[in-house]
Order: sequence, then C-alpha cells, then structure tokens
Amino acid sequence: MGLSNVYGVPGRVGSTARLIDGRAIGAALREEIATEIAGRPARARRPGLATILVGADPASEVYVGSKHRACAEAGIQSIDERLPANCGEDVLAATIERLNEDDAVDGILLQLPLPAPLEADRFIDLIDPAKDVDGLTAANVGRLWLGRPGLAPCTPQGVIELLERSERKIEGREAVIVGRSALVGKPLAAMLLARNATVTICHSCTSDLIARCREADILVAAVGVPEMLGADHVKPGATVIDVGINRRDDGLVGDVDFVAASRVAGAITPVPGGVGPLTIACLLSNTVKAERARGVWS
Ligand code: NAP
Repeated sequence: MGLSNVYGVPGRVGSTARLIDGRAIGAALREEIATEIAGRPARARRPGLATILVGADPASEVYVGSKHRACAEAGIQSIDERLPANCGEDVLAATIERLNEDDAVDGILLQLPLPAPLEADRFIDLIDPAKDVDGLTAANVGRLWLGRPGLAPCTPQGVIELLERSERKIEGREAVIVGRSALVGKPLAAMLLARNATVTICHSCTSDLIARCREADILVAAVGVPEMLGADHVKPGATVIDVGINRRDDGLVGDVDFVAASRVAGAITPVPGGVGPLTIACLLSNTVKAERARGVWS
C-alpha cells in the first residue's frame, strides 16, 4: 500500500520512481490503533501519554500540540506537563519521577531540545524504561541492539513501517544510512540489521560518500542538510527514504533533491508527506505497546 507513480507530476517529468506515501501509511497505522482502542469495553482503561515541555520554544510547542491532537484522535489520554525554562534540575527530575509513578501514564515523552543548561541525557535516563516511548534511555538503546523486547525510537520505526508497508524487501539488501544520530541513524541501523539487511552508516567524516550511497538498495538520508543527496548518490532502482526536514523560504525540503533523485530511484518518499507522518503514528503505537508491556521491562 501507499505507493503511487510520480511519473508526469508537473516539474517531475522523466521521473520513474514510485512515490511512498507516508500520509496514507501513517493514517492506516493510526486507524489501526484507534480501532483497537475503540473496540475495548466502555469502562476499560485507556492508554495514557504524558509530554513534558520545558520552556516555550515555538517549534517544540507545535510538535507537542500535534502529539496531543493525534492522541485525542486515537483515543489515547494525554497529559500536558509544562515547565518554565528556568524551572531548574530538581523540578524537572521530580516531574519525571512523579510521572514514572503515575499509574494512568504509560508513556513519557520529554520534548527535546531542553533549554540550557539542562542536559538532555541526564533527564532522559530518569525516565522509567518501561515508559520511555521515545526509546532513548540507555536501557532501551541496549535492548534494541541486543534484540531484546523494549521501546525503540519513533522516527526509525517509521522508516521501517514505510519500507514494510510499501513492500520493499529488506532482507539481503544493501542499506546505506547517511547520518549517525542517536535519534535516527544509529537505531535505524539496528532495526535494518535485525531484518537481515547489510548496513553501512555514513557521517560527516565518511570518504567518497557518493560511491558508498550508490551501493545502496535502500538509501536513507538523515543529515539535516537541505537537498544534499542528488541523482549521483542514487543507484538506479534504489529505494530512497528521506528523513530530513529543513525549513527554507520556499517551504519544507528534505535532505534529498527529490526531483533529481526520483529520476533514478525505484521508489522515494516526499518531504513533506514521507517519514514525518509516521513519527507521530509510531509514538501512538509505542504508547499502546508500553501499556501492554508495563511491568515486563522495568
Ligand atoms: P543530527 O543529530 O544533526 O545528525 C546529523 C547526522 O548527519 C550526523 O551524524 C552528521 O555526521 C551527519 N552529517 C552532517 N553533514 C554531513 C555530510 N556533509 N556528509 C555526511 N554526513 C553528514 O540530525 P538528526 O536528528 O539525525 O536529524 C536528521 C534530519 O532528520 C534533520 O533534517 C531532522 O530535522 C530530520 N528529522 C526528521 C524527523 C521526522 O519525523 N521526519 C525526526 C527526526 C529528525 P556527524 O555525526 O559526523 O556529525
């Protein structure tokens, strides 16, 4: 599902790539979650997600707002914790600890980045791993690499959903990820490896990036540089997944030059409308997963 041909779309003449439609795939996943929750007995407990926003960064406020809307649509209860930027370490730590103990809360999401001088790693690791729906605690990172049950980061999970639901084969394929962040590149490498891809991770010190990318059957861009990967980086027929979200005066663009790459790729995600919609859908999915598994991973 979620594939359509981009051939003939104005401005994309010559394109042969199939479009992997993240909006359709994300909507399908959200619908599955909403249907499962709606099918519970009337008095049954509903999953609960708590977000913590420190400070008033406008982009973070938008992200948190869209997470709460998505929860409401899916039938997940959400708790919106807001702290001033100068709340101090003790108040933030106490908030996380209170939510760890709260039985109504299955998932805790600490919205990043935190305002200085608060250090994200310290506070992420205060979150109960069983409620760590961002999959960023050291415990869950270890579980992911060890192949043990746990909670994994939402964006790379979204990439896997896009590949699997658009029926792109992973096993035995060469996967090249450009970007090695803890949020995207590294966990995605673990997920692709677990599905028997041969995985290469590239970064800012990688030599001959074009040659490495051209080996890829599955090429994932998670760089944060607008349209950095072009047609030269793409092996003919490859699947290209663009995680990048970059704001420019002319709107949002990815890390891939979509027009150029789609002339060479076999399938490609657009920006917006590719990986983005899957990130929130996977957050909902992680919240339900955490609810089911609570007690098992703590
Ligand atoms: P990040 O933490 O800044 O990491 C960027 C990675 O790209 C780093 O590993 C860096 O290498 C590498 N890199 C930078 N310049 C490079 C170059 N010229 N050649 C090769 N590698 C290079 O970024 P991130 O958090 O992973 O995010 C990546 C992109 O995805 C951003 O556009 C972000 O907005 C987007 N994003 C989207 C979603 C979504 O929901 N769709 C979610 C998260 C992130 P070094 O490690 O060597 O510095």
